[in-house]
Amino acid sequence: MSKREFQTEVSQLLQLIIHSLYSHPEIFLRELISNSSDALDKLRHLTLVDESYKSLPFDPRIDLELNEESKTLTISDTGIGMSEEDLVSHLGTIARSGTKNFLSQLSGDARKDSNLIGQFGVGFYSAFMVADKVEVVSRKAGEDKAYRWTSDGKTGFDIEPAERAVAGTTILLHFNEEGAQYANSWRLKEIVKKYSNHIAFPIFLTYDKSEWNETEKKSIKTRTTEQVNAASALWRRPKSELTDDDYKELYKSITGDWEDPLFWFHTKAEGSLEYTTLFFIPSKAPLDLYQAEYKVGVKLYVKRVFIMDDAKELLPQYLRFVRGIIDSEDLPLNVSREILQQNKVLTSIRTASVKKILSELKNVAANQPEQYLKFISEYNRPLKEGLYGDFANRETLLDLVRFKSTKVDGLTSLADVKARMKGEQKSIYYITGGSESLLRTSPLLEIYKKKDLEVLILDDEFDEIVFSGIEKYGDIDLKSVNKTSTSEDLKDDAEPDKAESLKPLLDKLKATLGDRVKDVRASVRLADSPSVIVSDEEEPSIKMQQMMRAMGQKDIPALKPTLEINPDHEIVKKLLARSDDAVTDDAAWLLFDQALLMEGVPLQDPASFVHRLNRILNLSI
Ligand code: ADP
Ligand code: MG
Repeated sequence: MSKREFQTEVSQLLQLIIHSLYSHPEIFLRELISNSSDALDKLRHLTLVDESYKSLPFDPRIDLELNEESKTLTISDTGIGMSEEDLVSHLGTIARSGTKNFLSQLSGDARKDSNLIGQFGVGFYSAFMVADKVEVVSRKAGEDKAYRWTSDGKTGFDIEPAERAVAGTTILLHFNEEGAQYANSWRLKEIVKKYSNHIAFPIFLTYDKSEWNETEKKSIKTRTTEQVNAASALWRRPKSELTDDDYKELYKSITGDWEDPLFWFHTKAEGSLEYTTLFFIPSKAPLDLYQAEYKVGVKLYVKRVFIMDDAKELLPQYLRFVRGIIDSEDLPLNVSREILQQNKVLTSIRTASVKKILSELKNVAANQPEQYLKFISEYNRPLKEGLYGDFANRETLLDLVRFKSTKVDGLTSLADVKARMKGEQKSIYYITGGSESLLRTSPLLEIYKKKDLEVLILDDEFDEIVFSGIEKYGDIDLKSVNKTSTSEDLKDDAEPDKAESLKPLLDKLKATLGDRVKDVRASVRLADSPSVIVSDEEEPSIKMQQMMRAMGQKDIPALKPTLEINPDHEIVKKLLARSDDAVTDDAAWLLFDQALLMEGVPLQDPASFVHRLNRILNLSI
């Protein structure tokens, strides 16, 4: 027998599971059954695609055997099994690097989130919530040696040779005090029905059944084996036969989520291609939504047979929060990952699925606005990613995303903004480049406020990247108020003679600010502020350039901003009237620096700014 220690992360994880996740210890059974089901899926797949496995016997089943007296339960499967190496690496270390990173990030309340279990592949260890000793006997398919892995879930585990008649895995739990309640056949049946009813393989329970015996006038126990789950591919049944509870239960059993899904879309396609899709939207965004190593949520089946659950090509990346099943009649059972990538059948299913999901979301938005709001509060961001990448569905996505705005509290749709447009209004406007509060107080909005034009507040970091590539919503232009070109909606205010009379001052400012600015011009977009920074149509905003540098892009050329001056502002008028001196020089710089500050751009030389400000203050006090 050889003694081994758990990898440090495993010990941490065990602590976490045993101490923080105690509220639902019954999920241990769901986790172990789902591992068995995965193992059966894997072996079935091999027997279909791999010559050397085709001749092996395969009788897929999961067996639970209960011994009430000794308070033990075994969970056995005839699945793929584990070799000695597998036992060490799968049950002694955390295989997925994402789990490691994830653990280190977690703190406080997040630790109590039971979604962790399963979602991050820590399922097996949940056995230690209910058992003080766990034995795993496993034999890998195609090999004749079996091994026993034993652990008390504290420091480490033992491995020794063992016997097992056929390939598969048997897990023996010695229930602890907490687990003793599960040494009860009635309770076990209830838990299987609750979480694992739609596992595709039969689950049998063997236990001592008490029955009244008329002749002996007492109840007698007989060892009995019963199938306890429905084992049906529920998604293949007609919608009319399914209840909401059926869907919710299936969702929970395939995702390990505790909460009901927000909604689901069940589609059966019959025509040139035959397939069934069942998609669920989780009520909370998956925890790994913004991690590069996110776990795929859609499983691929072919003719009810599980094929794979990690194919990123099933749906576009921005829909990675969708959970569910794609079951095709037309793909070959031995479809490989390489084939999937360029498979026409899959491409068509994927295209249709995306359309379906988006159009169903549109229905929800129209018919169940409150539900839609819940959806948007979790998934607005991934939808915006779609705007960036999915050109084919851009129109629909533009209708699905929601925006903050100067006109309404909460969120609004472009359709509503369009409906609110004033008769002669030509474009829809938005502002980017900072936090919500910075944007809402930006001088750039002054003229829009004055003219009562709505402006969308795009305060998400990547909004500028996403929306600078989108020129139209239907036939209406989408315009950034940060850009230099002025729109027709503002034009009538630009009085050419005003700009003309301002020219001496503009020249003076240009001379003073030198190569810090690209240009200085008269503005038509200001009401209360004397000056503002604007960007060129084709250039990223100053804030954006800052962000790109912060993200490590060193080779961003330092683009010079354009300064706009408000011809109607008192300060500007006075400056225009005043002849050149130290005060006008200070004022020029202050107009520039304050415009930068309002953009949220830190000053290059704060000391000079303060000196100038104090000189001017001194004059006025
Ligand atoms: P996950 O199922 O998310 O991978 P688990 O902690 O539940 O994480 O299981 C860890 C690994 O142990 C599995 O990925 C699998 O390789 C292996 N394993 C667990 N149970 C079984 C089983 N019954 N048969 C074969 N392998 C198993
Ligand atoms: Mg698992």
